[in-house]
This record gives sequence, structure tokens and C-alpha cells, in this order.
Amino acid sequence: MAQNDTPQNTLSQRIKELELMVQISRTLTSTLDLERLLKLIITMAAKLVSSEGASIILEDRQQGELVFRAVAGPKSKALVNIHVPIEGSIAGTVFKTQAPLIVQNTERDPRHYSAVDRNIQFDTQSILAVPMLFKQQTIGVLEAVNKLENRGFDQHDLQILSTLAAQAAIAIENARLVTELQDANTRLAELDRLKSNFIAIASHELRTPLTLILGYASFLRQEADEAASKKLDMVLQGATQLQRLIEDMVNLNHLETGSVELSWSEFDLRTLIQEAIERQQQFALARSLEIDISMPVAPLSVRADREKIDIVLNNLLNNAIKFTPPGGRIQVTMRPQTGAVAVSVIDTGIGIPADELAHIFERFHQVASHLTRREGGMGLGLPIAQGIIELHGGRIWAESVKGRGSRFTFTLPTVPHNEKDLKDV
Ligand code: ADP
Repeated sequence: MAQNDTPQNTLSQRIKELELMVQISRTLTSTLDLERLLKLIITMAAKLVSSEGASIILEDRQQGELVFRAVAGPKSKALVNIHVPIEGSIAGTVFKTQAPLIVQNTERDPRHYSAVDRNIQFDTQSILAVPMLFKQQTIGVLEAVNKLENRGFDQHDLQILSTLAAQAAIAIENARLVTELQDANTRLAELDRLKSNFIAIASHELRTPLTLILGYASFLRQEADEAASKKLDMVLQGATQLQRLIEDMVNLNHLETGSVELSWSEFDLRTLIQEAIERQQQFALARSLEIDISMPVAPLSVRADREKIDIVLNNLLNNAIKFTPPGGRIQVTMRPQTGAVAVSVIDTGIGIPADELAHIFERFHQVASHLTRREGGMGLGLPIAQGIIELHGGRIWAESVKGRGSRFTFTLPTVPHNEKDLKDV
């Protein structure tokens, strides 16, 4: 025991170390900036074991070597990014064996990789190296070099550095994961931007020739004999379907990029619903479906983009017709609420399984079991409807029992009475 190593002194020193450890662990868990974290760890390591310097050596997975990632002490700048082989170095030995190592005299230890010392003109005398483990895997090595006051590193230093290394490994992995996640997010955002651009360009390029096809086909249809008209009808039908898909893609793209401009006007929602149903009536009849309407007698004013709400109604009615077997019933109801109106499209169709309900508003989502009976569509109708309704400050949702039918409801804010009264003045 050295002269001033009285039990009292040792105890108060241990308490100080413990306090420092608690402080370090708090800081380590609250820092996600990798560079700051590494710097903090090595500064603390050198302080805790009273060494001239300390370094973090991490694995470079691509090169299959170790590399100095952060260094504290003399020559620290020169050391950063220097590679150390896994075979034939103290750090490599600790890395491979996952066991800590104390080397009191590096000159006499053949494992010491002296090329680094020569390179940066530093004299490493003693080394304490401990593995940094994360989930039983070594991610690197934490080293302290040259114990101060000419004393050798002891078991207590080893214990302290190992405790720090264990915490540091977790903090480093966390910070790495966060960085990877941020990078992945940036890449995703870029991909999303590219996708939006692609849709914008592709749909624009498709629209022009499609308009030509539709124009010529309609013209020829007027002139054609019976046999040719049938064929032209098929051309027209296909082209119209394609046009609808392109419009859907464009609409969704606008909604997602926030480039939709609503054209606000005040109108009676009942009239719009009536018109939308009339337009779909022939399709419903063709499938032997009945459409019932239940609406208030008095007009119900909303301030909204009329064309956009028409798209929502069309999409919901379209789905109700598509997914209801012949002989079924579709009901459209409109109920006034406080400050809002709720519109429901209810069908007696095939319904939606409970675990699918949460997903049907996701773009391109289609219930797998419905695919066999689908008649066109890409799974864009509902996300478009949702985007439009939310832009208006409303809500849209679905309720359904598989095999029994579905109910899609959306709400829209109504024009307050007093506002209307003011306008009437
Ligand atoms: P799609 O173009 O496929 O109809 P939507 O976004 O409008 O795209 O709908 C997504 C999916 O939700 C549909 O493919 C279908 O599986 C399901 N769905 C939507 N409406 C109904 C409904 N009324 N009854 C049963 N399933 C429905």
C-alpha cells in the first residue's frame, strides 16, 4: 500500500469514482451525437484511471481491421483514423479474445504494435485495454495508455475501465443506430421525392396521347358500323379506365406533396350527393343494386371544394357498387351534427376483415381476398378520399363486418348559422 493509501483515502477516492461513474452514465445515455459521445468517453477514461491518454478503437468491418476513432492525450490528432491490424496488436488481442489486458511494459510485449508509436513519435509504455461488448459481440476496444505517477495499471483500474466500456458500448451502438436511422430517413425522403417526380412526369406524358386516343376513338365510333362500334366501345372503355387511374395518381400525388389548392365555395351538400348518386345509378342497376337515400328536408350548407367532395362521393359509391354482390342494397345517409355533417355510404356487400380495416386507407392497399372479384382500381380511391376530407378539416373512417357489409362515413364542417346570417344581411 503506498504512503497515502490509507483506508480513509481509498474510501473517499472510491466514492468520488462512483459519483463520476453515475454522472458519466447519465451523460452517456442522454447523448446521441456519436462524435461527442466518443470524445466524452475517452476524456472520462483517462481521468478515471489516471492515465496520460485514452483511445477508442473500433472495428472497421469493411477492411477487417481496427481503427482509432477517438483519442485523448498527446498526439491525439495524429492517431485518429490510424489502422491497427487485428493480428499482432494488443487491441487486436483484446478484440479477439474479449478479455481485458494489462501490459505494464510494452517494449517487452511482442503483441505491441509499435509501428503506430514510430509513426506518430509517441512513447507508449503501459497499456490497459478492455473490450467494448454489445450483445456479446465486440464492437471495439477502450484503451488507456501510460499510467501517471509511474505506477502500473492495477485490477481496480481494469474494473473501472471495464464498467465504463460496457456503458460506452451501449451508448455508441445507440448513437450509431440513430445515425443510421437518420440516414435511412434522408434516403427515404429522397426516394419519395423521386417517386413524386416520376408520377408527375409519367402521368403528364401519358395524359396527352390518351386524350388523343379517346378523341379519335369517339370520333370513329360515331361513324362506325355496328361491328366496329363494339370494338371501339372496348377501346373507349379501356382508355377511360386508364384515364381514371392516371387522374387518381395525379390527385394523390398532389395531396401528398401538399400542392392541392382547394377551390372553396358554399353549396347545399344534399344536391351534390343527389347528383353523385344519379351518375352511379346506371352502374348500380347493371348489377341489380338498389340505392336508397336518407337526407334532411332542409338544405345543408357546407363550404368546401365541390369537385373534390364529388371525387370522395364517387370513390365511396364506386367501391360500394364494386364490392356488393347483385341483389344487394346501398344506402346513403346524411346526418347533421353540431357544427358538422356526417355522410355515410352503407352497403350489404362482402365486408372487410377486422384486421384489414386499419389498412384500407393506405395507398395501394387492397384486401387480398377481394382481388379476385375486383374490377379495376389500384387501391388509391380511399387514400385520396381521406386526403381530401382531412384537407377540409373533416374525418373519414370505415366500419365493417366481414360478409355482412361496410359503412364508410365522412364528416365535413358546416357553415355556422350566425355566419350565414351575417352574410345574408
Ligand atoms: P380500389 O381502387 O382497390 O377500390 P380503394 O382505395 O378505393 O381502392 O379501396 C381499397 C380496398 O379497400 C379495396 O381494394 C377493397 O379491398 C377495400 N374496400 C373499399 N371499399 C370497400 C367496400 N365498400 N366493401 C368492401 N371492401 C372495400
